[in-house]
Amino acid sequence: MDIHEYQAKEVLSNFGVGTAPGALAYSPEQAAYRGRELGGEKWVVKAQVHAGGRGKAGGVKICESEHDIQAACEDMFGRKLVTHQTGPEGKGIYRVYVEAAVPIEREIYLGLVLDRTSQRVMIVASSEGGMEIEEISAERPDSIVRSNVEPAVGLQDFQAREIAFKLGLEAALIPQMVRTLKGCYRAFRDLDATMVEVNPLVVTSDNRILALDAKMTFDDNALFRHPQISELRDKSQEDPRESRAADRGLSYVGLDGNIGCIVNGAGLAMATMDTIKLAGGEPANFLDIGGGATPERVVKAFRLVMSDDKVQAVLVNIFAGINRCDWVAEGVVQALREVQPDLPVIVRLAGTNVEEGQKILAKSGLPIIRAGTLTEAAERAVGAWQNDLTQATRMRAVT
Ligand code: ADP
Ligand code: MG
Repeated sequence: MDIHEYQAKEVLSNFGVGTAPGALAYSPEQAAYRGRELGGEKWVVKAQVHAGGRGKAGGVKICESEHDIQAACEDMFGRKLVTHQTGPEGKGIYRVYVEAAVPIEREIYLGLVLDRTSQRVMIVASSEGGMEIEEISAERPDSIVRSNVEPAVGLQDFQAREIAFKLGLEAALIPQMVRTLKGCYRAFRDLDATMVEVNPLVVTSDNRILALDAKMTFDDNALFRHPQISELRDKSQEDPRESRAADRGLSYVGLDGNIGCIVNGAGLAMATMDTIKLAGGEPANFLDIGGGATPERVVKAFRLVMSDDKVQAVLVNIFAGINRCDWVAEGVVQALREVQPDLPVIVRLAGTNVEEGQKILAKSGLPIIRAGTLTEAAERAVGAWQNDLTQATRMRAVT
């Protein structure tokens, strides 16, 4: 789960990381008022969306009066911000953060990620802040400092000092930098984050080290341990299909193709998507109904897949171990009766209670295409979808 910049800043500041004074607003008027409350002469208005690259896309504006703040916000609110991280559809701006503008002396890049090779948290830093890490690694790879943290003892002072020295910070700033690095690491560890990125971390002209931007991503499977973090979820920033699925306890990933996939288990989902591609099609999603799925759960999965306009055929592929093919079949039949979709549905069942499952499908009298193997299922799904396409093309040619 991602959170907003202002939320990440609040989280990090609770761990001793320095930030500039700022306040959140839900309307241009409120933003102008927040500016007045904060005082000072210069502010930065920052669109709160779950994506980086806002500066270049018009989502970060420097303002020199309350009037400026209001005008900048009127430009932002309700609009979709498209950055290189959002995809072409962009992300809606419903909140802005008004922050005191600070005099920047230096910009540093700081990131904490899970390094799967070493199975450690890795601290990545660079003296070339402000640029995206991808750009830094392409243009100034020599400026990148990496350091793995030993989990048993956590980030040690000497290690943090070493990073600070490598970044070329002057001696007087080292203790502040050590505090910042340790604060970010503790936030990462204590809150089960998978990513913390502060870009830029700045040194101000009055020698303060501040996180001027902050991004945090958390491990969804650990959110139950951190209700205060779960509360920060902002559904307006998520793919609506994915948040609807999460609310129903289903694991769903939206993709760009047109064959909807209902499967059990992530491994089988991968195999199903590969086989669809091999057969010449493109999956529209990855939907995992999990183990022991009841007919009701299968109905929910169906509704979710059908609600995506892009879906032109549905492939149900179940290899039942803990699951029961008869339950899945009941769910499929019930869903088709309720939703009455106007698209081909292909079902491949294997494993526990497969005969009962097949009987339920056969007896239903519904136009379900049954397949014996995964390859056959994928070919039939792709075939049915292509057939649909040629029909549609033909109809378009006639009209
Ligand atoms: P993004 O990474 O999404 O583009 P940032 O928060 O990093 O957004 O802001 C972009 C740039 O704007 C920063 O690199 C920094 O130079 C400048 N900036 C951001 N916040 C402030 C601030 N409070 N004071 C001065 N400059 C700022
Ligand atoms: Mg940034």
